[in-house]
Amino acid sequence: MTNLGSVPIEKKWGLGDRGGLGIILAELQTNKKRKLGRDNTSTFVIRNREALAKIWDAPAPHKAKVCAWRILRSRLPTCDNLWKRKVKLNEEEMMCNACFHSPESIDHVFLACPKTGLVWDEVQKWLGSSSVRPRHISSHFEMFTKLGRGKNCDKFLEAMWMCITWVLWKQRNASRFDGKAWNIKGTLMEIKARSWSWFKEFKTLEKDFDFCNWCSFDLLPKLL
Ligand SMILES: [Zn+2]
Repeated sequence: MTNLGSVPIEKKWGLGDRGGLGIILAELQTNKKRKLGRDNTSTFVIRNREALAKIWDAPAPHKAKVCAWRILRSRLPTCDNLWKRKVKLNEEEMMCNACFHSPESIDHVFLACPKTGLVWDEVQKWLGSSSVRPRHISSHFEMFTKLGRGKNCDKFLEAMWMCITWVLWKQRNASRFDGKAWNIKGTLMEIKARSWSWFKEFKTLEKDFDFCNWCSFDLLPKLL
Protein backbone atom coordinates (compact mmCIF):
# COMPACT_ATOMS: atom_id res chain seq x y z
CA MET A 1 0.00 0.00 0.00
CA THR A 2 2.81 2.38 0.82
CA ASN A 3 4.85 1.48 -2.23
CA LEU A 4 3.64 3.71 -5.03
CA GLY A 5 6.25 2.33 -7.41
CA SER A 6 5.81 3.79 -10.86
CA VAL A 7 2.11 4.59 -10.35
CA PRO A 8 1.54 8.36 -10.31
CA ILE A 9 0.09 9.57 -7.02
CA GLU A 10 -2.87 11.15 -8.75
CA LYS A 11 -3.88 7.80 -10.27
CA LYS A 12 -3.13 5.80 -7.15
CA TRP A 13 -5.48 7.90 -5.08
CA GLY A 14 -8.26 8.44 -7.52
CA LEU A 15 -7.78 11.94 -8.85
CA GLY A 16 -9.48 10.76 -12.00
CA ASP A 17 -13.24 10.38 -12.26
CA ARG A 18 -13.19 6.59 -12.22
CA GLY A 19 -11.15 6.43 -9.04
CA GLY A 20 -13.37 9.00 -7.38
CA LEU A 21 -16.53 7.18 -8.29
CA GLY A 22 -15.00 3.93 -7.06
CA ILE A 23 -14.42 5.45 -3.65
CA ILE A 24 -17.92 6.89 -3.57
CA LEU A 25 -19.54 3.59 -4.52
CA ALA A 26 -17.65 1.88 -1.73
CA GLU A 27 -18.84 4.58 0.69
CA LEU A 28 -22.43 4.18 -0.43
CA GLN A 29 -22.26 0.41 0.08
CA THR A 30 -20.99 0.98 3.60
CA ASN A 31 -23.66 3.53 4.38
CA LYS A 32 -26.39 1.14 3.32
CA LYS A 33 -25.33 -1.21 6.08
CA ARG A 34 -25.11 1.27 8.90
CA LYS A 35 -26.68 4.57 9.73
CA LEU A 36 -24.56 7.62 9.01
CA GLY A 37 -24.96 8.85 12.59
CA ARG A 38 -23.40 5.64 13.87
CA ASP A 39 -20.56 5.76 11.40
CA ASN A 40 -17.38 6.01 13.42
CA THR A 41 -15.42 7.91 10.77
CA SER A 42 -15.75 11.27 12.57
CA THR A 43 -18.12 13.95 13.77
CA PHE A 44 -17.08 15.81 10.61
CA VAL A 45 -19.27 13.39 8.65
CA ILE A 46 -22.29 13.93 10.87
CA ARG A 47 -21.96 17.71 10.71
CA ASN A 48 -21.93 17.49 6.94
CA ARG A 49 -24.97 15.28 6.56
CA GLU A 50 -27.33 18.13 5.72
CA ALA A 51 -24.86 19.74 3.34
CA LEU A 52 -24.23 16.43 1.61
CA ALA A 53 -27.93 15.89 1.04
CA LYS A 54 -28.19 19.21 -0.81
CA ILE A 55 -25.47 18.51 -3.31
CA TRP A 56 -27.30 16.13 -5.58
CA ASP A 57 -30.24 18.48 -6.30
CA ALA A 58 -28.12 21.46 -7.32
CA PRO A 59 -28.19 22.60 -10.97
CA ALA A 60 -24.63 21.57 -11.69
CA PRO A 61 -22.82 18.86 -13.69
CA HIS A 62 -22.40 15.48 -12.05
CA LYS A 63 -18.60 15.81 -12.00
CA ALA A 64 -18.90 18.97 -9.88
CA LYS A 65 -21.32 17.27 -7.49
CA VAL A 66 -18.89 14.38 -7.09
CA CYS A 67 -16.07 16.84 -6.41
CA ALA A 68 -18.21 18.70 -3.83
CA TRP A 69 -19.12 15.40 -2.20
CA ARG A 70 -15.46 14.50 -1.94
CA ILE A 71 -14.61 17.91 -0.49
CA LEU A 72 -17.31 17.74 2.20
CA ARG A 73 -16.40 14.13 3.00
CA SER A 74 -12.70 14.98 3.09
CA ARG A 75 -12.09 12.42 0.38
CA LEU A 76 -9.93 14.43 -2.00
CA PRO A 77 -6.28 13.38 -2.22
CA THR A 78 -4.82 16.41 -0.52
CA CYS A 79 -1.39 15.84 1.01
CA ASP A 80 -2.68 15.39 4.55
CA ASN A 81 -5.13 12.75 3.36
CA LEU A 82 -2.39 10.98 1.40
CA TRP A 83 -0.27 11.00 4.54
CA LYS A 84 -3.09 9.42 6.54
CA ARG A 85 -3.14 6.69 3.92
CA LYS A 86 0.54 6.06 4.55
CA VAL A 87 1.80 7.70 1.37
CA LYS A 88 5.25 8.96 2.25
CA LEU A 89 5.71 12.57 1.24
CA ASN A 90 8.61 14.75 2.22
CA GLU A 91 8.18 18.09 3.94
CA GLU A 92 8.29 20.05 0.70
CA GLU A 93 5.71 17.80 -0.97
CA MET A 94 3.37 18.22 2.00
CA MET A 95 3.21 21.97 1.54
CA CYS A 96 0.50 23.89 -0.30
CA ASN A 97 1.59 24.61 -3.87
CA ALA A 98 -0.05 28.00 -3.93
CA CYS A 99 1.46 29.72 -0.88
CA PHE A 100 4.24 27.28 0.19
CA HIS A 101 3.62 28.31 3.80
CA SER A 102 1.22 25.68 5.17
CA PRO A 103 0.65 21.95 4.87
CA GLU A 104 -1.95 21.10 2.29
CA SER A 105 -5.37 20.07 3.61
CA ILE A 106 -8.95 20.40 2.35
CA ASP A 107 -9.63 23.41 4.58
CA HIS A 108 -6.40 25.04 3.52
CA VAL A 109 -6.79 24.48 -0.23
CA PHE A 110 -10.39 25.70 -0.33
CA LEU A 111 -10.43 28.30 2.45
CA ALA A 112 -7.34 29.23 4.43
CA CYS A 113 -4.76 29.61 1.68
CA PRO A 114 -4.14 33.34 1.03
CA LYS A 115 -4.43 32.73 -2.74
CA THR A 116 -7.77 30.99 -2.31
CA GLY A 117 -8.88 33.76 0.06
CA LEU A 118 -8.29 36.33 -2.67
CA VAL A 119 -10.45 34.31 -5.05
CA TRP A 120 -13.31 34.13 -2.52
CA ASP A 121 -12.96 37.87 -1.85
CA GLU A 122 -13.28 38.60 -5.55
CA VAL A 123 -16.17 36.18 -5.95
CA GLN A 124 -18.06 37.82 -3.09
CA LYS A 125 -17.45 41.27 -4.58
CA TRP A 126 -18.76 39.95 -7.86
CA LEU A 127 -21.84 38.52 -6.18
CA GLY A 128 -22.38 41.72 -4.22
CA SER A 129 -22.18 40.13 -0.78
CA SER A 130 -19.75 40.09 2.10
CA SER A 131 -19.21 37.78 5.04
CA VAL A 132 -16.49 36.41 7.28
CA ARG A 133 -15.11 33.12 6.04
CA PRO A 134 -15.54 30.20 8.49
CA ARG A 135 -12.55 27.99 9.20
CA HIS A 136 -14.11 24.73 8.10
CA ILE A 137 -15.26 23.90 4.60
CA SER A 138 -18.63 22.45 5.66
CA SER A 139 -19.44 25.62 7.60
CA HIS A 140 -18.39 27.63 4.58
CA PHE A 141 -20.76 25.67 2.34
CA GLU A 142 -23.61 26.36 4.78
CA MET A 143 -22.73 30.05 5.04
CA PHE A 144 -22.21 30.61 1.32
CA THR A 145 -25.39 28.89 0.23
CA LYS A 146 -27.43 31.10 2.57
CA LEU A 147 -26.13 34.42 1.23
CA GLY A 148 -29.29 34.92 -0.80
CA ARG A 149 -32.97 34.73 0.02
CA GLY A 150 -35.28 31.93 -0.95
CA LYS A 151 -34.95 28.34 -2.08
CA ASN A 152 -34.12 29.18 -5.70
CA CYS A 153 -31.31 31.43 -4.59
CA ASP A 154 -30.01 28.67 -2.29
CA LYS A 155 -29.89 26.29 -5.26
CA PHE A 156 -28.13 28.90 -7.35
CA LEU A 157 -25.53 29.43 -4.63
CA GLU A 158 -25.04 25.70 -4.06
CA ALA A 159 -24.19 25.32 -7.76
CA MET A 160 -22.00 28.42 -7.64
CA TRP A 161 -20.08 27.00 -4.65
CA MET A 162 -19.55 23.80 -6.59
CA CYS A 163 -18.29 25.72 -9.59
CA ILE A 164 -15.84 27.73 -7.49
CA THR A 165 -14.49 24.71 -5.63
CA TRP A 166 -14.28 22.74 -8.90
CA VAL A 167 -12.19 25.49 -10.51
CA LEU A 168 -10.02 25.82 -7.37
CA TRP A 169 -9.32 22.09 -7.37
CA LYS A 170 -8.43 22.17 -11.07
CA GLN A 171 -6.14 25.11 -10.39
CA ARG A 172 -4.52 23.21 -7.51
CA ASN A 173 -3.89 20.20 -9.75
CA ALA A 174 -2.50 22.34 -12.57
CA SER A 175 -0.15 23.96 -10.09
CA ARG A 176 0.95 20.74 -8.40
CA PHE A 177 1.28 18.48 -11.43
CA ASP A 178 1.95 20.88 -14.33
CA GLY A 179 3.79 23.62 -12.46
CA LYS A 180 1.31 26.31 -13.49
CA ALA A 181 1.51 29.42 -11.34
CA TRP A 182 -1.60 30.63 -9.52
CA ASN A 183 -3.35 33.39 -11.41
CA ILE A 184 -6.12 35.03 -9.39
CA LYS A 185 -7.59 36.98 -12.30
CA GLY A 186 -7.49 33.93 -14.57
CA THR A 187 -9.13 31.77 -11.89
CA LEU A 188 -11.89 34.32 -11.36
CA MET A 189 -12.49 34.57 -15.10
CA GLU A 190 -12.72 30.81 -15.38
CA ILE A 191 -15.26 30.75 -12.53
CA LYS A 192 -17.38 33.35 -14.32
CA ALA A 193 -17.17 31.61 -17.69
CA ARG A 194 -17.74 28.12 -16.35
CA SER A 195 -20.63 29.10 -14.08
CA TRP A 196 -22.18 30.99 -17.01
CA SER A 197 -22.09 27.88 -19.20
CA TRP A 198 -23.40 25.64 -16.39
CA PHE A 199 -26.31 27.93 -15.54
CA LYS A 200 -27.21 28.25 -19.21
CA GLU A 201 -27.04 24.47 -19.59
CA PHE A 202 -29.28 23.91 -16.57
CA LYS A 203 -31.59 26.78 -17.57
CA THR A 204 -31.07 28.56 -14.25
CA LEU A 205 -30.79 31.94 -15.97
CA GLU A 206 -33.32 33.81 -18.04
CA LYS A 207 -32.64 33.81 -21.77
CA ASP A 208 -31.91 37.54 -21.97
CA PHE A 209 -29.38 37.49 -19.12
CA ASP A 210 -26.23 38.11 -21.15
CA PHE A 211 -22.61 37.42 -20.29
CA CYS A 212 -21.78 41.12 -19.70
CA ASN A 213 -24.50 41.28 -17.06
CA TRP A 214 -23.22 38.02 -15.64
CA CYS A 215 -19.67 39.34 -15.25
CA SER A 216 -20.62 42.68 -13.74
CA PHE A 217 -20.51 43.33 -9.99
CA ASP A 218 -23.48 42.98 -7.65
CA LEU A 219 -24.73 39.90 -9.38
CA LEU A 220 -26.66 38.52 -6.43
CA PRO A 221 -29.10 41.44 -5.99
CA LYS A 222 -30.01 41.17 -9.68
CA LEU A 223 -30.93 37.53 -9.23
CA LEU A 224 -33.09 37.96 -6.13
ZN1 LIG B 1 -1.64 27.78 0.57
